Amino acid sequence: MADHSYDYDLFVIGGGSGGVRAARIAAGHGAKVALAEEYRMGGTCVIRGCVPKKFMVYASDYGHKLKEAQKFGWDVKIGEFDFPGFMANLHAEVDRLSGLYMSGQVNAGVDVFEERAEFVDAHTLKLVTSGKTITADKILIAVGGSPWRPSKDELPGVEHAITSDGVFQLKALPKHIVIAGGGYIACEFAHVFAGLGVETCLVYRGDTVLNGFDMDVRTEVHEGLKEAGVRVITNTVFESIEKTDNAEQPLHIKLTNDMELDADVVMMAVGRSPHINGLGLEAAGVTVGDRHEIVVDNYSKTNVENIWAVGDVTRRAELTPVAIREGHAFADTEFGGNSRTFDHDKIATAVFTQPEVGTVGLAEHEARKKYGAVDIYKTKFRPMKNMLNGKSERVFMKVIVRQEDQVVVGAHIVSPDAGEMIQMLGIAIKMGATKQQFDETCAVHPTIAEEIVTLKTKS
Ligand code: NDP
Repeated sequence: MADHSYDYDLFVIGGGSGGVRAARIAAGHGAKVALAEEYRMGGTCVIRGCVPKKFMVYASDYGHKLKEAQKFGWDVKIGEFDFPGFMANLHAEVDRLSGLYMSGQVNAGVDVFEERAEFVDAHTLKLVTSGKTITADKILIAVGGSPWRPSKDELPGVEHAITSDGVFQLKALPKHIVIAGGGYIACEFAHVFAGLGVETCLVYRGDTVLNGFDMDVRTEVHEGLKEAGVRVITNTVFESIEKTDNAEQPLHIKLTNDMELDADVVMMAVGRSPHINGLGLEAAGVTVGDRHEIVVDNYSKTNVENIWAVGDVTRRAELTPVAIREGHAFADTEFGGNSRTFDHDKIATAVFTQPEVGTVGLAEHEARKKYGAVDIYKTKFRPMKNMLNGKSERVFMKVIVRQEDQVVVGAHIVSPDAGEMIQMLGIAIKMGATKQQFDETCAVHPTIAEEIVTLKTKS
């Protein structure tokens, strides 16, 4: 295939979603491929992200469902939540998946090195544990990101806090948790812990969580957190975290608004950062941007002719399916004779709060800025199930339509199963469906989703 003076045609750094997809597809196209992973195969999504997080969401939600079941006639006795037992099941599944990721690579003919790789130069990598040096014609950086947190100088006592990585290592369920942040991770875990009966407090520096999302969605989620029993403190940040001898709540937190809180676990969910420290990008000559992201073009190529990057390390959209598509497009382009890019427009995404957020396309403020005149359709209603189970929780749906041609340019749902709904809706919106085509689609009754094709009133 390529230049045979190199050990490999392709060397992939990172065994997460983007890396394994690119390696497997490239090997399938006949390339000689190697991949290095310093921790465990599967990366953030499988090991300490989407997958174990979703299991925790399910665990939390079962608690709600057990209570609701009583109203549907079931004589349910709700006992204790067995946190260690649940975590053992969670980790067994994570182990199984990680094993599958490994066997998928091996079966595809990829040589896997279970150690850290760092650049020596643009074609050479050093394997840190074995000390081996390996050369490759093309190199793909797919090292992902890791939780960011302030330094000890910026936040005294920050070392007492965990991040999302640490949640999966907890040996016991916290009694009182304080979470810093108001993004995806903070909101998801606030619901998880509140649902598991943990006294949960969320501290956010802004006034409404989920910055960047549609304002109505933000308001729904913000209010939903409070309804779920989360104490939400806004417009402030941590000033210090101190360890005390209080056995029940050994962490004392001071906020910049002079409030003080006590907890047994403090979690920083204040963003993630590309995992590039010590990777040797300077030695390879790879350009890094202001947000520490590796700068790439539409083909995921860096400024260096033989080096590409996909996934969270590029910070285009920090989502697993995006990394997979970027990795696949790269492998097809470079090794499959099929030059193509991944289209980052109208990516449907979900936030696994309880209820979930499903969103695709533009938020209202973005649509107004981009197109000027837009029609907004929205509804809020109590779903049928809640009539019997006594829950006051409502579903919110919003569709944003470009006025000039009636094309739907955004849809936002806050509802149970919103993630499932938005995946389907994403197809229609990606295809450029109009509001009239939504209206012509017959409802599936009785469902929550049917409301999306019966939205009548412009707001
Ligand atoms: P986000 O960027 O979503 O949120 C970070 C939060 O921390 C924001 O509320 C931000 O405030 C706040 N923050 C940032 N810096 C500070 C600071 N110095 N002090 C106090 N607060 C601060 O990051 P996450 O870590 O939640 O998630 C990272 C990414 O991972 C997401 O953007 C998403 O792409 C992905 N992800 C996707 C999931 C999914 O698909 N369901 C689940 C989890 C993660 P402000 O809003 O004011 O900037």
